[in-house]
Amino acid sequence: MIRVRFAPSPTGMFHVGGARSALFNWALAEQSGGRFVLRIEDTDAARNRPEWTEGIVSALAWIGINGDNPAFEGPYFQSSYEEQHREAAAKLVADGRAYYCTCTRDDVKARTGSEHRGYDGFCRERGLTEGAVRFRTPDEGVTVVEDLVRGTVEFPNNAMEDFVIARADGSPLFVLANVVDDIEMRITHVVRAEEHLSNTPKQQLLWEALGVAPPTWAHVPVIVNEKRQKLSKRRDKVALESYRDEGYLAEAMVNYLMLLGWGPGDDREIMPWSEMVPLFRLEDVNPSPAFFDEKKLRAFNGEYIRALPLAEFIARCEPWLAPDWDRATFARVAELAQTRIAVLSEITANVDFLFLDEPVFDQASWDKAMKNSAVEILTGYLARLETVAMDPESLKTALEEVGAEHGLKLGKAQAPVRVAVTGRTVGLPLFESIEALGRERTVERLRAALA
Ligand code: GLU
Repeated sequence: MIRVRFAPSPTGMFHVGGARSALFNWALAEQSGGRFVLRIEDTDAARNRPEWTEGIVSALAWIGINGDNPAFEGPYFQSSYEEQHREAAAKLVADGRAYYCTCTRDDVKARTGSEHRGYDGFCRERGLTEGAVRFRTPDEGVTVVEDLVRGTVEFPNNAMEDFVIARADGSPLFVLANVVDDIEMRITHVVRAEEHLSNTPKQQLLWEALGVAPPTWAHVPVIVNEKRQKLSKRRDKVALESYRDEGYLAEAMVNYLMLLGWGPGDDREIMPWSEMVPLFRLEDVNPSPAFFDEKKLRAFNGEYIRALPLAEFIARCEPWLAPDWDRATFARVAELAQTRIAVLSEITANVDFLFLDEPVFDQASWDKAMKNSAVEILTGYLARLETVAMDPESLKTALEEVGAEHGLKLGKAQAPVRVAVTGRTVGLPLFESIEALGRERTVERLRAALA
């Protein structure tokens, strides 16, 4: 059975790159009837915070990775396996595969003349019984990593120092703890970010030294911004949670993230998770950097929003509507809004004019629209509004007529009316908006604009 894992460290917001790795793992588990293990690597006590763990768990759940699916196992916490990590280090020492070392960084530098040459093996044969634990790497030959994404990658052993696997106080380092847990959890495939590739030869040696055949490796490409820089949390919007909170749909997010480095092999892009799962293959993942294109993600999201059944769309807008806004009124314009927004949070600015006593005026729009014959248009339309039938067609004809009296086409004549009624120059179709707002309130707003 395929057993994969996702092993985030809870040191910050949940990065979209992490979400992409998680989804690739999830697809493998689902397509094969395997298991996806969530393991929280919480051993860096100084940087971990419980709220980051909660954030990861809830963001994963949002994109469909949760215990509702029998493929999901966990979460496990790395910190609860420390005993096993210590035992593994002791076993490696007992087997002669690792040794204690008491050298300081300065000692090594004094002997080798450089900080960068790596450890010189000084304590290898000293038979110490305490100190940090170093793994004895082979002096010659190469360690060959077979990676499903990157192919065969060779690491010359003479460039790999005897690396530390446990500190002098016995606490394990990432490189060891990660392997011991993977062995413990019977992981068959390690699918993770490319930045870990440099750990892989060391970890492969550890798997072998612990007497277990190494897993299948796959290192998925880095994600870059439009400047081809690696996405960074200081510069780019990288937190999955912020996309969720802005009103991206989980389905769109999942679809988009899966395409960062992978594709179905034809030119399809918009496709639901259920169709991607059976097609996903690590061998098809492109090793070159994947561009996170926020504009494209927005476009995907707009498509997913438009594809929602209306009732579902209305339900999904709920968090962006104030509690006192009349839902029946909202339902009357929801369909118009559905085709116009790309992110759910945009619904607020599109419909708030219907519910507020006064629209939210955008000064720039106001200044722009209230030029030319704005006063004449507003005055003329106000007069028509006393008798015009309150349906979009009649409302439109009336404004066309007023415009014509002042030599203005409908587009130009609409501008001041739209700003007076909705506060903005763009938004839902004007005449449907007026119909929804009603005669009385529209009249009130045109008067206020003229005042
Ligand atoms: N905790 C590591 C990280 O978040 C996991 C590395 C791995 O997947 O092996 O980068």
